Amino acid sequence: MRQTFPLGRIAGIRLGAHWSMLVTVGLFTWVLASYLTGTASTVVVWTTAVSGAVALCAALLAHELAHSIVAQHNGVQVEAVVLWLLGGVSELSEEARDARADLRIALAGPLTSLGIAAVAFLAGAAAAAVDQDGPITAVLVWLAVMNTVLGLFNLLPGAPLDGGRVLRAVIWRRTGDRLRAATAAARSGQFLGTLLLMIGIAELILLGHVGGLWLMLLGWFLQSAAHAELTLAGLRHRLGHSMVRDVMTARPMAIPAAWPIAALLRSDAADSGHRVFPVVDDTGHPVAVVAWSDLAAVAAPARTTTTVGSAARALPAGALAREDEPLIDVASRVVLRPNLDAVAVVGEDGRLIGLITSTDLVLACDRSALGLPPRGRHRTGHPSATSEGTTP
Ligand SMILES: [Zn+2]
Repeated sequence: MRQTFPLGRIAGIRLGAHWSMLVTVGLFTWVLASYLTGTASTVVVWTTAVSGAVALCAALLAHELAHSIVAQHNGVQVEAVVLWLLGGVSELSEEARDARADLRIALAGPLTSLGIAAVAFLAGAAAAAVDQDGPITAVLVWLAVMNTVLGLFNLLPGAPLDGGRVLRAVIWRRTGDRLRAATAAARSGQFLGTLLLMIGIAELILLGHVGGLWLMLLGWFLQSAAHAELTLAGLRHRLGHSMVRDVMTARPMAIPAAWPIAALLRSDAADSGHRVFPVVDDTGHPVAVVAWSDLAAVAAPARTTTTVGSAARALPAGALAREDEPLIDVASRVVLRPNLDAVAVVGEDGRLIGLITSTDLVLACDRSALGLPPRGRHRTGHPSATSEGTTP
């Protein structure tokens, strides 16, 4: 969701739209225009269709905003609301603290959609009294139907759909076991996703409906999102309340971006046994990450002139962390590929103070499974670059 353009703020919540939203607006307009054909002149039909499509997107936004606003009221921080191809996503930066809040946040969206459907239906009934076969009446009825479908579809009991969140909250409330609740909701989501996918395929092949493609896409998305939820639920359970500082390697060996690759190969880093290094600028701020495999791509004669900075990969925004952050937040926002990626931990001044690699995360999970603290007393981390006195 990186290529989003900002739509402003409501109630302090950042709103954005992914470029794929344009496809959705286009699709809605096209569907609506063909549905309205014959009710008025071509210009009126298309104008009404575009307005209807935009109104539906606004309704999607209202659905997500309802989740976010209720989340904020329940003490859950909200990062942003983003609209994309398949609707909207509320980016909550943390999870609800109790089952009751979880339930309220989950229900806010579908109830808003059903509320909008009711309003659109009443407005449609009023419009019908004036012009029964007019395009305005048709659009209002369409909006009522679409919002009803949206509200009911989202109440299907499988995560990450809202109904899955409701299911999670109910099981969590009953059993007091959050992991069990999240796992059950995610498994139900996987099942629902597979079911939608199969219905979509059957619709496409047996009935020849192109609409089957849409169901297939939804089913596939639901299934993979449910799978990710399942993994995350396990990880969340394993990492529990561990903080970044419990797992990070403090004072990691950092490589200045301006170093030629040849200098890095001559330095202590080459013999350190580590395969991934943070790259810092001349003020000590981490800017990139470099693995031995990145350097192998540079031909030997060019290694004296090519800097580490130009061979390294830029750090994505999610790969910067604070030492007092919960580890699970970091683990859920970045995917760390073994021997390739790392999370740079920065201090108040933005300078590098620690490093987390996928090995550190796996180790923390394994130790937690054995009932051990995140890290042993005998740390075998990166030696400090300064104490080793590395020079190019
Ligand atoms: Zn929702």
